[in-house]
Amino acid sequence: MTAAPTDVPMIRMSAVDKFFGSLHVLRSIDLDVPKGQVVVVLGPSGSGKSTLCRAINRLEPINDGSIEIDGVPLPAEGRALAELRADVGMVFQQFNLFAHKTILENVTLGPIKVRGQSRDEAQRDAMTLLERVGITDQAQKYPAQLSGGQQQRAAIARALAMKPKVMLFDEPTSALDPEMVNEVLDVMTGLAEEGMTMVVVTHEMGFARRAAHRVLFMADGEVVEDAEPQKFFGEPKSDRAKDFLGKIL
Ligand code: ADP
Ligand code: MG
Repeated sequence: MTAAPTDVPMIRMSAVDKFFGSLHVLRSIDLDVPKGQVVVVLGPSGSGKSTLCRAINRLEPINDGSIEIDGVPLPAEGRALAELRADVGMVFQQFNLFAHKTILENVTLGPIKVRGQSRDEAQRDAMTLLERVGITDQAQKYPAQLSGGQQQRAAIARALAMKPKVMLFDEPTSALDPEMVNEVLDVMTGLAEEGMTMVVVTHEMGFARRAAHRVLFMADGEVVEDAEPQKFFGEPKSDRAKDFLGKIL
């Protein structure tokens, strides 16, 4: 039976295994993320959350299983991989901006190189995105001249400039001073409300309750719980999740 196009999940992971040497970091992960869904991934340090994100855009090759983005299997390498990766935006804990390029250049580089946009068009789009994340006045500055919150908003704008189908966030606010956390979460909440498909690793439980459609709780390379936020926070099933929530709430 062939599913109708709209039924194709944005992300499909099937029996994904990942090892680092003898360490089994992702254990036969099966995960479908429907279009427009916001998934928050929780779990103790070392449970495999970052590896899961990195596998989804093939920053980490997997050892077994398959990953599809919008029905297309992740290519192993080359131009096809670059293009598919452009569909999957990623924002890291460390903002990973190019230090020797201005904010505007950071945002326009990918669209010009990978998407083949003209410089003018890329700059117009970039300014719209910088406005959306509230930092148009920083366009000509270098990353080091910005606050952490501004840099992370620039990193989000840079990822969005590729017009991704999915956005992955790996602890995007963990490196920020507390007073800057909300300005980044607000941008993410806006994206979620606009229907972006998102996978977000975070310790911000307020964001999880407010913006997530679904919470995954990982432990030792497995998805131990998969539930709506209300359900997960209200009545976690596993001892691991209860223990985890006891420590952070
Ligand atoms: P989390 O993001 O949940 O803290 P990670 O996905 O970063 O967990 O890591 C999962 C496990 O894999 C940990 O035990 C970690 O030490 C290990 N690991 C992560 N990256 C590497 C690597 N490049 N080489 C070897 N081991 C790694
Ligand atoms: Mg991590």
